[in-house]
Amino acid sequence: MPIDMDLINKELETLNNQGGSSNLKEVKFAPKPGKTKIRFVPNKFSDRMPFMRFKHHYNLQPTVTCLENQGEGCPVCQYTIQMFREAKRENDESKRALARELMGSERFYAPVLVRGEEKIRIFAFSKTVYEKILGFTQELGDITDPNSAPDFIVEKTPPGTNGLIYGKVDVVYDVKTLQNPLPLAPSQAEIDAILDTCPDIATLYNKPTSKEDAIKAMKTFITSDNTSDEQKEEDKVASMLEETAPAPKKEVATPPAPAASEETPNIEDEIEDLFNN
Ligand SMILES: [Zn+2]
Repeated sequence: MPIDMDLINKELETLNNQGGSSNLKEVKFAPKPGKTKIRFVPNKFSDRMPFMRFKHHYNLQPTVTCLENQGEGCPVCQYTIQMFREAKRENDESKRALARELMGSERFYAPVLVRGEEKIRIFAFSKTVYEKILGFTQELGDITDPNSAPDFIVEKTPPGTNGLIYGKVDVVYDVKTLQNPLPLAPSQAEIDAILDTCPDIATLYNKPTSKEDAIKAMKTFITSDNTSDEQKEEDKVASMLEETAPAPKKEVATPPAPAASEETPNIEDEIEDLFNN
């Protein structure tokens, strides 16, 4: 059978796209403290749904891309559910804590053009921001339209401001351009050139982890996380007697992500480590 030229072309395109945008640091939009003006743009790789979401198990080393992203059963998620069940049944706080640490969390992604730049970047954000962006889409229609959508303002509050431990990212639309939209660029040729730079979000943020590697990373985590039985006994005795404070638990290699962790730089670093190594 002759070679399928369509497949060859597709393969070449994939390779080219990888070569052009495989460096996450280059294509990631990391908002600087203060306000940054951006445009949401069409997703070259997913024209009907520009936004994407992927789940990762960030506490594992290396970070495990949840297999559920591929529609497969994820051993880490399955184990997490089992741990939560056992924790409930046995009223076991340590199991509950372990389950929380193993549990995956979702990040949400959109291609954006930072005003003043010529190449599209990927904006990764929390569920709260995602809900807001979806709300804007319901309210305003296609917010990625290169000719008639408003600009948006991303405001980054740095950690420590107003008592925010991790800082905060918020997105609002630019009122002026809502009334008088500016095109993405002055000419259609320039718009097309910009849209063509759209990185493939899935290639960058959904690098599959094999089942075997996921299990391996989970085992390593659990082993390093477990306080020895002897230590547990000591803790129990200490707390029963209430004479001494429980001996400090063994340091966990990777600290658990705090509940409101979507914007922590830690997670961002971990994602970067994963994809840049
Ligand atoms: Zn999972």
